Amino acid sequence: MFNALVLEQEEGKTLAAIKQLELSDLPDEDVLIEVTYSSLNYKDGLAVTGTGKIVHSFPMVPGIDLAGVVKESRDPGFQPGDEVIMTGWSVGERYWGGYSQYARMKPEWLVKMPQGMDAAKAMSIGTAGLTAMLCVMALEEGGITPDKGTVVVTGAAGGVGSVAVAILSKLGYNVAAVTGRESTHEYLRGLGATELLSREEMAEKARPLEKQRWAGAIDTVGDTILARLLAETDYRGVVAACGLAGGYKLPSTVMPFILRNVRLQGVDSVLCPADIRSAAWSRLLTDLPANALGEISNVIGLSELPQAAADIVAGKVQGRTLVDPN
Ligand code: NDP
Repeated sequence: MFNALVLEQEEGKTLAAIKQLELSDLPDEDVLIEVTYSSLNYKDGLAVTGTGKIVHSFPMVPGIDLAGVVKESRDPGFQPGDEVIMTGWSVGERYWGGYSQYARMKPEWLVKMPQGMDAAKAMSIGTAGLTAMLCVMALEEGGITPDKGTVVVTGAAGGVGSVAVAILSKLGYNVAAVTGRESTHEYLRGLGATELLSREEMAEKARPLEKQRWAGAIDTVGDTILARLLAETDYRGVVAACGLAGGYKLPSTVMPFILRNVRLQGVDSVLCPADIRSAAWSRLLTDLPANALGEISNVIGLSELPQAAADIVAGKVQGRTLVDPN
């Protein structure tokens, strides 16, 4: 018997409870993993609180990330004892996920733990950190080098934002951070942000083109903030958009694209191809300072998840939260 957080639905409401399961309760996938850590992402917050239609079927074990040790494998690519990471692939939405002491996964979802990484570090990074790295890589692909000017990060004190600020700063970029919480200013300065901007100011409706301020941007928020970023991005600048913590709309115009050659680059980590995913994990080893990860991460158990999920949806969580199911 082992413990897992299980979501069930009653009269349209999502209920979360820790249940004792047996290995035979797990889905019939090829690789059985003993979970060392999972993590809390915004999407997990939505799933556990039942906000938004994240979970496709019930009962569901949520948790879109996990890191652990292979116990049994029917796939020749994995042996008992292998340490693995899983993020994305609709796990915790369509398939049972990481808020559990054991999980069964498809082999193609798994990345072998890179040398120098461990489960705690991998889950301090998790989907949010992987997405932050993919956003930085998107800026690089668009030619945004540190000498081009300042890069702005929105939702900066959240999971994706915190990791993005730390990576950009380590790579030598001048980083501006947009946050709705003044209480996080010192934390963000500690991660390397040199300019701090208020969410309120950035959420004000922008004209189609504003004064050019940013060589690049990483946006986790969407809506009027993303529209303002586009209007303020330099000629040939790049905006990497990965999130919707402020809303899914984009009330913008074509002006930044046709007059300033601005590039809006979408970033998805869920179905990100294996080669890019592995490259991003390797980059995280070198480009995310180890001391920043310590600053960024908190650890909670399964019983604390319902409250932590409500907090992340309310925008109250700072940095990354590791989940220890054991
Ligand atoms: P967090 O909740 O940790 O961070 C989001 C941050 O956004 C908050 O900390 C807060 O930062 C800010 N924020 C919250 N509410 C609002 C609001 N109403 N208006 C403006 N800003 C707000 O979440 P994650 O970092 O895990 O995820 C961030 C976003 O990225 C989410 O929308 C998530 O779904 C998306 N995402 C997308 C992925 C992809 O593959 N495309 C993968 C991972 C995440 P502050 O207090 O500093 O203002």
